[in-house]
Amino acid sequence: MDLVDPFGRTIRDLRISVTDRCNFRCTYCMPEEGMIWVPRSEVLTFEEIERLARIFVERFEVDGLRLTGGEPTVRAHLPVLVGKLAALRVPTHSASPRAGHSPDLALTTNGATFRLVAHELRQAGLDRVNVSLDTLRADRFLQMTRRDELVRVLDGIEAAKEAGFQPVKINAVMQRGVNDDEIVDLARFGRDHDVEVRFIEFMPLDASGHWASADVVTQDEIVAAIDEVFPLEQMTSRGAAPADRWRYLDGRGTVGVIPSVSKPFCGDCDRVRLTADGQFRTCLFATTEFDLLKMMRKGADDNAVAAEIQRAVGTKWAGHQINQVSFVRPKRTMSQIGG
Ligand code: SAM
Ligand code: SF4
Repeated sequence: MDLVDPFGRTIRDLRISVTDRCNFRCTYCMPEEGMIWVPRSEVLTFEEIERLARIFVERFEVDGLRLTGGEPTVRAHLPVLVGKLAALRVPTHSASPRAGHSPDLALTTNGATFRLVAHELRQAGLDRVNVSLDTLRADRFLQMTRRDELVRVLDGIEAAKEAGFQPVKINAVMQRGVNDDEIVDLARFGRDHDVEVRFIEFMPLDASGHWASADVVTQDEIVAAIDEVFPLEQMTSRGAAPADRWRYLDGRGTVGVIPSVSKPFCGDCDRVRLTADGQFRTCLFATTEFDLLKMMRKGADDNAVAAEIQRAVGTKWAGHQINQVSFVRPKRTMSQIGG
């Protein structure tokens, strides 16, 4: 049965945060110190994640699962969870191209320790990987992530390719006056390494609360900068995917831009989210959460949990209002929600 929201959007994609902890402290995401972590006893167990994922995939025909965090690779035994999720089956009667098969399994990582788990994750059934990389300069990398790990992240990208992930994508958050002078360098990196770079507009989910619309480098600016050096041609409709995509006219691959702020794509949104502590959210910017962890631990059966998920999806709003005065920042930041 499809999970359809009040605006007729069918939910197809579940983002699962497996931890709120991280080995980096990116300035646009976390404070340097003072994060308050979810107590380990309140983090969903693998069995609980599997149970919820099963409801989404087998009952509601969700055919894409993305693991995120925090940094998902800091969660011990992550390949065990991937193996459990890879064993789920999208119903054969579903209209999904994955009908009868496992859901599409993806992971977003900062890449620093990815080499250590790449092969095991691939073996366990992970399909795709996005590695975050906002700068190619070591000194700037240290400033932006507060960790001196550029070399290991670049190695993590190579490890992802070697392990056979297809595609490997790079996520790059652009901030004006911070790293926007590297747009072309990052695009060149993608072309040279045969990976799709996806530029992301900076969103008001930073822990410092310093976000200002003037800091956002817009999709139009990013595309214009790349097009001047490497001419581009826009590809056809993105469907429910967040990135608009362009192909290089010389045939050297593609590049994407996620215009969350300048051109919100809420009208096509098919995503919902589960935080590490089992709170169900129908939008990255939602201000309401539904406590599935508590329900499950109180003994609710699958029918009751599924009914709560349907109730929650019934509250999914038309879209965020970042560009309007009525916008209210969610209480939790990106790493706590699961980006
Ligand atoms: N730790 C992993 C990583 O960094 O890839 C996964 C979690 S991270 C929260 C997921 C994505 O959100 C990353 O690509 C990160 O760059 C992005 N992100 C974090 N804070 C952001 C913000 N304020 N605006 C836009 N993107 C942000
Ligand atoms: Fe950690 Fe990812 Fe947030 Fe950076 S963006 S602090 S790597 S969760």
